Amino acid sequence: MKGGKLIIFSAPSGSGKTTIVRHLLNQPELNLAFSVSATSRPRRGKEKNKEHYYFMSVSEFKNHIKNDDFLEWEEVYRDNFYGTLKSEVERLWAEGKNVIFDIDVVGGLRIKKKFPEQTLAVFVKPPSVDELKIRLKKRSTESDDKINMRIAKASVELATAPQFDRIIKNYDLEVALKEAVDLVATFVAEDKE
Ligand code: 5GP
Repeated sequence: MKGGKLIIFSAPSGSGKTTIVRHLLNQPELNLAFSVSATSRPRRGKEKNKEHYYFMSVSEFKNHIKNDDFLEWEEVYRDNFYGTLKSEVERLWAEGKNVIFDIDVVGGLRIKKKFPEQTLAVFVKPPSVDELKIRLKKRSTESDDKINMRIAKASVELATAPQFDRIIKNYDLEVALKEAVDLVATFVAEDKE
């Protein structure tokens, strides 16, 4: 596989990375397209198949693993598999797009390792673990159990931040959004390897 640039945004759940990724997708000059991941987790709220995720059963997901269809995959939470299909990235590259990912830290770092030169890996840092808890509760899309699972994972994820190319501190959303646009604009303007 080879093609355009890859931009990864990873962060603990509730850090605001999805908001940042959405903002970046609204900047036409960046020529970005979102990599829709596959997942075996149930759909939440207004999520749409093929737009937010390719929703599938655990057994369908495991078949894709067996067929080596994934660029990377992860059992992010128990029985909740997430992964990037090679076909998704190839499809977007064929359209001449730079591909942007909203994925977990392990998956993000795996892609960076596979495509070191053409990938910009950005870690979005929340103000604190307490603030994360508040944000997740406000979102109120999940049970307390699930929220606690996400918080426990956040502490482990925060420790991986130094392995990323850049860290954006999301303390003030406006500042973080501007920083993200500047970073990505510089990266996509660099000559292709
Ligand atoms: P959520 O269930 O909130 O949509 O996502 C849970 C976590 O899985 C988030 O950290 C999200 O970024 C991550 N995730 C989403 N897609 C992928 C993927 O394709 N690969 C990996 N490794 N993680 C993903």
